[in-house]
Amino acid sequence: MKAIIINPGKKASARLAEVPTPVPNPNEVQVKVLQVGFCRTDQEIYQGLYGQAPEGLDYLIMGHESLGRVTSIDEKAGNGLQEGDLVVRTVRRPCLDLCLNCRVGENDMCLTGNYLESGIKGLAGVMAEYFVERPDFLVPVPSELGSVAVLLEPLSFCEKVVYQAFKVQQRMRWNPSSALVFGAGPIGILLTLLLKNIGLDVFTAGYSRKGNLKSELVERCGATYLSVIEGELDSLRGNKFDFVAEASGKASNLYLGLSYLKNNGVMALTSITGEPERTEIPLGEINLSLVLGNKLIFGVVNASLRDYYRGLEHLHTFEQKWPGLVNQLITSRLTLDNYQRGFEKKSEEIKAVLEFPN
Ligand code: BGC
Repeated sequence: MKAIIINPGKKASARLAEVPTPVPNPNEVQVKVLQVGFCRTDQEIYQGLYGQAPEGLDYLIMGHESLGRVTSIDEKAGNGLQEGDLVVRTVRRPCLDLCLNCRVGENDMCLTGNYLESGIKGLAGVMAEYFVERPDFLVPVPSELGSVAVLLEPLSFCEKVVYQAFKVQQRMRWNPSSALVFGAGPIGILLTLLLKNIGLDVFTAGYSRKGNLKSELVERCGATYLSVIEGELDSLRGNKFDFVAEASGKASNLYLGLSYLKNNGVMALTSITGEPERTEIPLGEINLSLVLGNKLIFGVVNASLRDYYRGLEHLHTFEQKWPGLVNQLITSRLTLDNYQRGFEKKSEEIKAVLEFPN
């Protein structure tokens, strides 16, 4: 079958190749891939900064944001799935040590770091005509969500961000009314939708000029878009927020974001950033702000099954509240002839999606 593979660690070695079609084990089903989203992690792997081949191979099939159709199924393995069902594949597999969290299926909270991730770390990904998987790592998707379900994986991550922010804030009485999100890429916009949906006053700081699709989508859901490069963050001076999320890939926003955080507020860091830049930051000031303000900064990665199912519910809600908005996040539809474009960083791109013939 055709697949997009890379030699991890080797810059720009991604290529279209012919690889063996995977054969399902008795406890697995075969899935035909329909769509695959490109994200910043894929771009980092493409740059040779991240990624690991499966044991015994020198290449990795890339891709982890999928939508596929179940093609072959062993009745015993099916676990309720039928041939023809649409599915999204989850990304992370439990560590071999079966740590406290992996043991109960919360692989996203793995303690050891010895987990596998499809298309990222030691496990074949989904940029291929087919993959095989155990049904418990597949999320069935209702057909009416087929046009947006390739965004379920990034949405599941945003679900985890919001869920965990509220969970950790159970350390006190917390009644948030406002949020600031750095970044207006897919994660920034999906977070904005989730936070608007729960009624917060949301400001989304993006790095493009106003009047483009990113600002349009942010404003359509009732949030305020601030163009960082047009100096609009300054208009926030003096404003503080209950919740801040850094989703722009700029590690320096850790410090900037803290300056916008209310006392008792919480800030989530969500980007995997290879930003080589070194910045001096006043640690004493940060320490004082965190301590005297009971503030909390936490990191979030990956998502649990619960987050995928919550994401499915929200895809329905978003479709009702803002019809067509989520679909507009898909700004490029690529094929195996021009897939390379998905690895390019373009400021106007929101989500590039690779489409396989049906
Ligand atoms: C994926 C996550 C993964 C993370 C780190 C992200 O792009 O969406 O599932 O855990 O990269 O590898």
